Amino acid sequence: MILVLKREITEEQKNHIRSILRSEGYLIREMSEHGQPLIGAIGKAGQDLDFFQQLPGVERVIPISSSFKLASRKMRHEDTLVNVGDVVIGGERIVVIAGPCAVESREQALTIAREVRKYGAVLFRGGAFKPRTSPYSFQGLGEEGLKILAEIREELGLGIVTEITSPAQADMMMKYVDVVQVGARNMQNFELLKCVGRMGKPVLLKRGLAATIEEWLMSAEYILSEGNDHVVLCERGIRTFEPYTRNTLDLSAIPVIKNLTHLPVIIDPSHATGIREKVSPMARAAIAAGADGLMIEVHHDPDRALSDGPQSLYPKQFGQLMRDIYVIAPVIGKQLDFGYLDKAKAVELMSAARGDGDRRAAFLGELGTFSHKACTQYFGAKVKAVPTPSFTRIFEAVKSGEVDFGVVPLENSLTGSIHENYDLLLEYDLRIIGEITIRIMHHLIACPGGKIETIQRVFSHPQVFQQCRQFLEQHQGWELVSAKDTATAVKQIKEGGLPTDAAIASKEAAEIHGMAVIQEGIETNPRNYTRFVVIAAEQLENGPRRRSSLIYSTGNRPGALFETLKIFAGKDINLVKLESRPIHGKPWEYMFYVDIEADIESPAFKPVLDELKKNTDYLRVLGCY
Ligand code: PEP
Ligand code: MN
Repeated sequence: MILVLKREITEEQKNHIRSILRSEGYLIREMSEHGQPLIGAIGKAGQDLDFFQQLPGVERVIPISSSFKLASRKMRHEDTLVNVGDVVIGGERIVVIAGPCAVESREQALTIAREVRKYGAVLFRGGAFKPRTSPYSFQGLGEEGLKILAEIREELGLGIVTEITSPAQADMMMKYVDVVQVGARNMQNFELLKCVGRMGKPVLLKRGLAATIEEWLMSAEYILSEGNDHVVLCERGIRTFEPYTRNTLDLSAIPVIKNLTHLPVIIDPSHATGIREKVSPMARAAIAAGADGLMIEVHHDPDRALSDGPQSLYPKQFGQLMRDIYVIAPVIGKQLDFGYLDKAKAVELMSAARGDGDRRAAFLGELGTFSHKACTQYFGAKVKAVPTPSFTRIFEAVKSGEVDFGVVPLENSLTGSIHENYDLLLEYDLRIIGEITIRIMHHLIACPGGKIETIQRVFSHPQVFQQCRQFLEQHQGWELVSAKDTATAVKQIKEGGLPTDAAIASKEAAEIHGMAVIQEGIETNPRNYTRFVVIAAEQLENGPRRRSSLIYSTGNRPGALFETLKIFAGKDINLVKLESRPIHGKPWEYMFYVDIEADIESPAFKPVLDELKKNTDYLRVLGCY
């Protein structure tokens, strides 16, 4: 059961509750959710809930009827985030674990690790102890394999995931690896589960070959009950009567799991299908279905792999899959971040150099706006998001060093450029160090228990009313009240507390303010995306450099712009954006904003930059990112 405690509970009352629970033999977990203190108490069946309800300081008691308790969503409403170094599993950035089935040699593992790192994997997998069906098959390199994995972490900064097959390996694993994997064949090896629970390291728990979801969650419960909350579930296919694939991938397990438990879930389409061509389609489907990540087997020479060659992707195929996931992720409100590890390192270096604690990033408006979402998806939780009242204030704050970064929208797929920010980019001597695209989904939000039938007034930003026109036209009687931003609109209806008020904003804004979404996805055009850029005083060290943004002006003569574009064409550089803006004080003269797919400041493109300088009156590189 869960005891929801009163916010004003005294320490003395808490002690009283604790001592009663302990004397009755309960296992106790203390938590808090949105500042509300909770005690999870696991003990015998048939508890006297009324008795606990009467205790001073207890607001209410929630029974947990499922057989798994600590793993239950009832016990913890918020998603669990599992941290592995700089990587967070379970958040809005998709985590891809890749590598060979088994570590075969130093050379093989390093070659594959370099490839998967290049394409955006953030953790490396490779078995050193292989649980093979046949005792005559390759059993893994043992400790030597673990040493190779540790070397890969040192050299490439990739966290290591490897399988533990016996409690006897625990000390060795503690020394070399970041995540211990419990394989499908060991899902119900209870001594091993208790052992990994005690180890305290993050655990990747695969679903057994013939296990139900409930049995799988009971195995997670074993690990959690040892005090280890860092559990990631991994669906890898189950045995059915269907022989065309090695196993049958149970994708419906994803939404089921998301409902039942707070633990993250990832998908392993390699073991699920056993066939190379089937891996990418199922991986894409898994992300669309809401998985927190993927585990993919990759081999540079699969025909000679010592295990699972037929299901291993070639590195290039893995790269293509990553590009697909990059496109799919924003559709479901997430990101695949190609710069994940480099960015984390660069931010860490920045903090070390400055020696003054957390880095900060300014965004427009309140917590829960789309700008806030862009900010947290770009940086993760390691950079503090700072609400800021205007775009000019964001540029000022970055310039003065009050914050390290700014996150500003540049263009929307439906409404076009945000010109104010283009002008500010020209005015301030700052750099673009990154970009992120967010899907804009609008929801109708009301107080908990609210119903669409009672709504009379709707609060939001005027632009949002525009974007939801079709929906609003169906409710002609509603009064539209304009707010500073979407999150402020939610705050306003919360403060009013009226059943007649609603707001239009993001799901996150509803969650932050404890409000309810009463109608999802009410924007007229679902292909509504906003591209944000991240600005800073200086380029990030080792940051990604795939694109460049430039501003330039040309002389007022025939073909002047054409001459500059010819330079890109001649070097096969893809132009992804071209826009002109009037130059202040010079009527009918224009500045061109150009984005290209190349690092124009790299030595390889120096001739391009030189040529461009010769053909322009003014030229500035806004950033390479
Ligand atoms: C593996 O990940 O290499 C493995 C053996 O997987 P499973 O336990 O899912 O068969
Ligand atoms: Mn394998």
